[in-house]
Amino acid sequence: MNDSGGTSLLLGSAEVPPVHEQNAAGRSPFLLTCDHYGRLIPRVLGDLGLPESELTRHIAWDIGIAGVTETLAKHLDAHLVAQRYSRLVIDCNRPPAGASSIPIISEATTVPGNEGLARETAEARRRQIFDPYHQRIDEVIDQRSREGRPTILVSLHSFTPVYAGIARPWHIGTLYHRDTRLPPLLLKQLRAEADLVVGDNEPYAVSDETDYTIPVHGEARGLMNSGIEIRQDLIGDPSGQQQWADRLARVLGAIEVTLRADVMI
Ligand SMILES: [Zn+2]
Repeated sequence: MNDSGGTSLLLGSAEVPPVHEQNAAGRSPFLLTCDHYGRLIPRVLGDLGLPESELTRHIAWDIGIAGVTETLAKHLDAHLVAQRYSRLVIDCNRPPAGASSIPIISEATTVPGNEGLARETAEARRRQIFDPYHQRIDEVIDQRSREGRPTILVSLHSFTPVYAGIARPWHIGTLYHRDTRLPPLLLKQLRAEADLVVGDNEPYAVSDETDYTIPVHGEARGLMNSGIEIRQDLIGDPSGQQQWADRLARVLGAIEVTLRADVMI
């Protein structure tokens, strides 16, 4: 069978499910999400017409962030919900109706396997990869709310040190839009770390057009929320991932203390 998605099954029964979870019973108020955690491609889609060198670089996933989020979830005793499939199959942080949801071009790379897709093919990707991930995040927030537990949504990403030929100076950035509670605390704590260049809505800002997780799960539900972006060259190996997880655990731990003292959670 070489049905490239069509109306039939995109993910075979032997394939890895899209949602990865860790520490589901974690007691932390922080709920960690990772939209670009993995770079799997459903078998039926082959290599999307790309060489291996493209499928391992930042256009396919957020390099290094998986190791950071897993260690951070352990340190904080926080629940992590992550997407295992590549953003090149369907980007879980883009509104599915938008052109960048299933990118035909990513940075300067054309993705042959995404050209001229039938509507049903795009819908199969949404139904089998995008929807289960976001439904799970929804369920988790619902359940925490029913149990009377606070949820502070932190969506973790990593960014390429050079984009379209321009070097980026920040080590880490906060990304936010409507929440006025968590982002200032996060910026303050990160800026207290003397060795860091911290981006305030850099290298990206959140918007309804270019994002999904924060607007839909954080803002629309009234949760405190922020995105965090870490530069990929800092977390390219396990030791860097460990150091950044340690640092973020310290920063978020201090924020939790402040929020509890101010009775905000
Ligand atoms: Zn990302």
